[in-house]
Amino acid sequence: MDDTRIILPESEMPQQWYNIQPDLPAPLAPPLNPGTGEPIGPEDLAPIFPMELIKQEVSMERWIDIPDDILRIYKLWRPSPLFRAYRLEEYLGTPARIYYKNESFSPAGSHKPNTAVAQAYYNKQEGVTRICTETGAGQWGSALSLAGALFDLDITVYMVRISYDQKPYRRMLMEAWGAECFPSPTDRTEAGRAILAQDPDSPGSLGIAISEAIEDAAKDPEAKYALGSVLNHVMLHQTIVGLELKKQLAMVDEKLDCIVGCVGGGSNFAGQCFPFVKDKLDGQDIDIIATEPTACPTLTQAPYRYDFGDTAELTPLLKMYTLGHSFVPPPIHAGGLRYHGNAPLLCLLVNQGVIEARAFHQNEVFDAAITFARTEGSLPAPETAHCIKGAIDEALKCKETGEEKCIVIAYSGHGHFDLAAYDAYHRGELEDYEYPEAKIQEALATLPDIE
Ligand SMILES: *Cc1c(COP(=O)(O)O)cnc(C)c1O
Repeated sequence: MDDTRIILPESEMPQQWYNIQPDLPAPLAPPLNPGTGEPIGPEDLAPIFPMELIKQEVSMERWIDIPDDILRIYKLWRPSPLFRAYRLEEYLGTPARIYYKNESFSPAGSHKPNTAVAQAYYNKQEGVTRICTETGAGQWGSALSLAGALFDLDITVYMVRISYDQKPYRRMLMEAWGAECFPSPTDRTEAGRAILAQDPDSPGSLGIAISEAIEDAAKDPEAKYALGSVLNHVMLHQTIVGLELKKQLAMVDEKLDCIVGCVGGGSNFAGQCFPFVKDKLDGQDIDIIATEPTACPTLTQAPYRYDFGDTAELTPLLKMYTLGHSFVPPPIHAGGLRYHGNAPLLCLLVNQGVIEARAFHQNEVFDAAITFARTEGSLPAPETAHCIKGAIDEALKCKETGEEKCIVIAYSGHGHFDLAAYDAYHRGELEDYEYPEAKIQEALATLPDIE
């Protein structure tokens, strides 16, 4: 029997990130200034991001060196192992070979520290002392809190209220790493106060929390803002995962046929699949499948339009699949997938037909997660469970057709802080939210009038 854990030696860890921008099949629509409708320049972003990250955001260099200080920290958990899911294959009775690239070994339990550490490093280099951010399920907030501890930076986190209430242990983890965490909407910002005036019981949303964090950062000259997903530089930092994956598949003489990931803002899946997109564009037959919740069906149902990244309309306009920046998704447990938009880079590839998308309900997703936990042992995050569901469907198709495909699950994180969600599932209390058609139509009506 072949290896179960495919371990890349530290000496083989990639030393550069892969920037997909020069290899895109169509030009990326630029971010626009909402006031003028003109493309924004670096100076527009300088108040909230360090210059080096702004440069990466628009870079056309295919390979970008990873600074030594970042590589040294990556080695606390990288290279991450690739697992062969023998027991899941056996349970499903599939001829497919299923692998999972496991990002749950980072100190915060997900892929998010890959970019948190990089962003903290560039902020520190440029003299920033405090970083403000938002968090959904708490994974990004805890990843940035970890990075803040490692680089001695103050971290302020606006955490979506529904998750703050459902997942108190994530807040405790952030505080253990020295960060301050507030349930959003708060009364600390104009954006938060405006929402509370309309709806004092607002469950919050990533869009609202982003508004609060940007406002806080913009008002403090010592502070900057960090985003855990969506932007090009975040996708860039995550490509270390896919680059490692490529080397690991080569170690066991595998050729990728299918990769499945879950998409909130798009970063973990972009990181895993972008290094393979070039192969697909060059003619290799690879299915690249993004999965998302039916309750927040950005890639499967939304129009491809310019929209704001946040509720208070503080961000530039980004061209993406969007449910409308005022859309507040139903309170599903995969908090990290409750975002109205998606990374422009990933959206472009969906629009070009390079990446396909599927949506699933909560209960079928948790069924898949439990199947995984009872065969492979590891309990996935509810976000990750979406792509496990997608991969199981693919493996079952192989059972019908007899195809011996190589399927990779982009395993983005563990579910150890999500046990309340598993408890609700086991009690039969998880609601399957239908596609919230009326609320989405309402939100889409508020899109800016730019195609
Ligand atoms: C945040 C998160 C996601 C969703 O964010 P992306 O930017 O789409 O990757 C998925 N899985 C886990 C475990 C997360 O923490």
